Amino acid sequence: MTIHSVGVVGAGQMGNGIAQVFAQAGYDVLLNDINQTSLDDALTRIDRNLERQVAKQALSPDEKSAIMGRVKTTLDLAELGPLDLIVEAASEREDIKNAIFAALAPHLGAHTILTTNTSSISITRLASLTDRPERFMGIHFMNPVPVMKLVELIRGLATNEDTFSQIRQVVDRLGKVPTISEDFPAFIVNRVLVPMINEAAYVLYEGIGSVSSIDSSMKLGANHPMGPLELGDFIGLDTCLAIMNVLHRGLSDSKYRPCPLLVKYVEAGWLGRKSGRGFYDYRSGVPVPTR
Ligand code: NAD
Repeated sequence: MTIHSVGVVGAGQMGNGIAQVFAQAGYDVLLNDINQTSLDDALTRIDRNLERQVAKQALSPDEKSAIMGRVKTTLDLAELGPLDLIVEAASEREDIKNAIFAALAPHLGAHTILTTNTSSISITRLASLTDRPERFMGIHFMNPVPVMKLVELIRGLATNEDTFSQIRQVVDRLGKVPTISEDFPAFIVNRVLVPMINEAAYVLYEGIGSVSSIDSSMKLGANHPMGPLELGDFIGLDTCLAIMNVLHRGLSDSKYRPCPLLVKYVEAGWLGRKSGRGFYDYRSGVPVPTR
């Protein structure tokens, strides 16, 4: 079977990037969300990203309109059922993801492959509640999707080889580079990265450094392109907290306990760039440290 059509569930920061790279690689994409504004914003963002490529003459105006023509949106999840591949990229909550797969089940084609872009949740456990654990796997894109080369591929315990090799071919066609991770909490990149962001939140919480001194220290002292708090805001502090909770519960090791200050920011709704405020306040257009 060859994959031609792709349904993307969740049109947030990841979903719109995923829709864009699939459409640019020639796939027909149907993007779903529960929120019409997210769908409208996703199309605007894809259009803006492609326009930038047109300005740089990396894309012709005709190519851009062909790509935009391949991305459709819908509030009705059932419409995604008959497509060849589903990429679930909704909020990082296991209950939400399980509900999406359950709602899709009666509409799915027999051949459809289910995948999730989860950053941390067990692929085996998500797969076990679907009708097709052997045609289910993790495909973990990095943010921002159109820019970042890496895709982590994660097999669940039941994933069959046909599914894995089809998804590997898809990743090649997207022009991305795959790595393979076993199905353990947060896989490879986030197992290393998110505890570092959580530790930076502890350094702030314990008064060891301010937001700017922590970020400057890591940029100038460790040669990181973004400071850890800036990066946390970029990923989304709710997503970072969700990943820490998965690591803490999944590995039963107290070294993964979420920083109380990170919890407080999330409780305040200060989720980072996407909500206008996190460790930095973005509302004036210039990021201002909040501590
Ligand atoms: P986000 O908060 O920007 O977007 C989530 C979207 O999901 C929202 O538009 C929301 O309306 C939608 N949604 C919620 N419930 C839904 C439902 N039942 N049906 C359809 N849509 C629904 O989050 P994000 O940063 O795009 O993350 C999405 C997924 O990608 C998560 O699993 C996250 O862990 C993963 N991920 C995130 C990053 C990152 O850097 N942010 C990187 C890699 C993977």
